[in-house]
Amino acid sequence: MVNKEGDKLSDYPYTKVDEDTVKKILEILESESSKWNAPVKVLKSKTSEPFRVLISAIISTRTKDEVTVESTERLFSLAKTPYELARLDVIEIEKAIYPCGFFRTKAKNIKETSRILFEEFNSRVPDNMEDLLRLPGVGRKVANIVLSRVYGQKAIAVDTHVHRISNRVGLVNTKTPEETELELTKVLPQEWQSRFNELMVAFGQVICRPIKPWCDECPISKYCPKIRVKR
Ligand code: SF4
Repeated sequence: MVNKEGDKLSDYPYTKVDEDTVKKILEILESESSKWNAPVKVLKSKTSEPFRVLISAIISTRTKDEVTVESTERLFSLAKTPYELARLDVIEIEKAIYPCGFFRTKAKNIKETSRILFEEFNSRVPDNMEDLLRLPGVGRKVANIVLSRVYGQKAIAVDTHVHRISNRVGLVNTKTPEETELELTKVLPQEWQSRFNELMVAFGQVICRPIKPWCDECPISKYCPKIRVKR
């Protein structure tokens, strides 16, 4: 089997990391993370309120982290609660969140999600997957971000950073984010599961980047098999 770059599957043998190495990798990254100037850290420092976490997670889908930070800022300068946000015109929301990806669809979803939260949840962001998935614009990734960051639950939000890095490092050997979420629940120590997304997003923004990862500067380089990384 050959991909469009002409690489064979056998060029990228899968090497699963053992349990002790998983822990070591997580501990190293946690201790190094204070040095990283990653957009996700800016987002987090400005986003501890549950409703804001939810809305910024909806905005973040298929959008650069820097754009998500700025779009969320602009939107919350207009309205801060579900009631206030539901009363904005869709056009106002579109203008505030532009140029995030799919801004028209997201603007509609944000308005409708705000209305549902106000009318059916007393303006409170739900703390369970079932209710979160009822909200327009909320899929498993967004729901898991809310459950882990807001409620501290053992939920693993799998975005492109988490999916890519988990496969490069050999934590999993998967093709889709859904598979990655399932496999990570088996290999990650429980105490790391709610923290994992944030750690991987920051790591993926500054070191293990999608294109040309900084393997020479990487603090876990000696433990990483660098699966499917072009060298
Ligand atoms: S060594 Fe390279 S591929 Fe492995 S985690 Fe570090 S930056 Fe990513």
